[in-house]
Amino acid sequence: MISTKSDVAAPGAVTIESVRSDFPILQREVHGKPLVYLDNAATAQKPQSVIDVIERYYREENSNIHRGVHYLSETATEAYEQARYRIQELIGAPTPEEVLFVRGTTEGINLVASSFGERFVSAGDEIIISEMEHHSNIVPWQLLCERKGAVLKVIPINDRGELKLDVYEQLLSSKTKLVAVTQTSNALGTNNPVAEIIERAHAVGAKVLLDGAQAIPHHAVNVAELGCDFYAFSGHKLFGPTGVGILYGRAELLDAMPPYHGGGDMIERVTFEKTTYNVLPHKFEAGTPNIVGGIALGEAAQYVQGLGYEWIAEQERSLLVRATEALEGIDGLRIIGTAEDKAAVCSFVMDVAHPNDIGFILDREGIAIRTGHHCAQPLMDRFGVPATARASFAFYNTLSEVDALAEGLRKVTRMFA
Ligand code: PMP
Repeated sequence: MISTKSDVAAPGAVTIESVRSDFPILQREVHGKPLVYLDNAATAQKPQSVIDVIERYYREENSNIHRGVHYLSETATEAYEQARYRIQELIGAPTPEEVLFVRGTTEGINLVASSFGERFVSAGDEIIISEMEHHSNIVPWQLLCERKGAVLKVIPINDRGELKLDVYEQLLSSKTKLVAVTQTSNALGTNNPVAEIIERAHAVGAKVLLDGAQAIPHHAVNVAELGCDFYAFSGHKLFGPTGVGILYGRAELLDAMPPYHGGGDMIERVTFEKTTYNVLPHKFEAGTPNIVGGIALGEAAQYVQGLGYEWIAEQERSLLVRATEALEGIDGLRIIGTAEDKAAVCSFVMDVAHPNDIGFILDREGIAIRTGHHCAQPLMDRFGVPATARASFAFYNTLSEVDALAEGLRKVTRMFA
């Protein structure tokens, strides 16, 4: 039975109980135990309102967008564009044209690497990433550097999992064309000082892409205030569906960049001799998109805004404090990632058991965590471990669930000691 007594009371009508009841999957059992879902960094669960939007779309509104003159097509187009406005509002983008629907963070980053790279990166130029990046913010830049003869530089991290900003400063030069860093690390939880990173990059004329996949589910983002040039995130980590995400890009840059994919919707006029391209955002949205995904992502954004990031942050802070204390109290357990500024993510290793065994035993208790390299192999190398176990929290998790995790880990210790 999940007790939520000591969890943060939300202002107004929002309580942890009401929030949990918005997520049908949280009511289910796994292996005869109440589900304790602590794999939110991999993908987050969906509230009923998002599920309803998807169901209603296919039942009542299904139609292709942007091209039809009939009622259903107009309705679907309006819903899709409305979702774009909602995302614009969520991330503080100056205009909706700068909000591109993509498949997810991975596609957003690949779009920038390919298109920005094609237009702005030449042999000898430099791209800076960091040691804590997800593979999707490493490999696209390696591909670009190979293609263009550019050079990839890496900001190292300290033992707590924080960027070494003094080294970053030294890496920056007039050769730097782009700095691509994560706002929040999926494997460590570290929140990076992105405002400072952007300011320093801009001082040498470099552009900045932020990987926001793990940041936007936890704290408010305002791309205009941050001044970043690109911002990518995935719908499914923001309580929306898979297969859809957002790339924000400054209009001036997007206008100057060549299209990423060719096809329907992204053109103004096609002849066999020459094709001219559509205006933003359509220039970067070739083909029939994930229509219902976009609409549902707009709904998810509205859900998060309804809760408010302040409440979310307070709830998650208490989860992180409790989890850190609990894990520190377990013999032979080492937390990987102890940054001063952290999201509610706890990666750890245990002397007695491999992360996969930890994950397996917790699963039998109904507790879902992630084990492995978290698509961050260079980071695992940095810490000298092949893998970690990772519990990642969302606002709907409870302190009792943290206690269940700790009890599960004590069981691991007993079984393997
Ligand atoms: N960056 C980070 C920091 C992530 O955590 C993830 C997903 N684990 C990605 C990028 C890739 O996201 P997606 O697979 O949804 O494209």
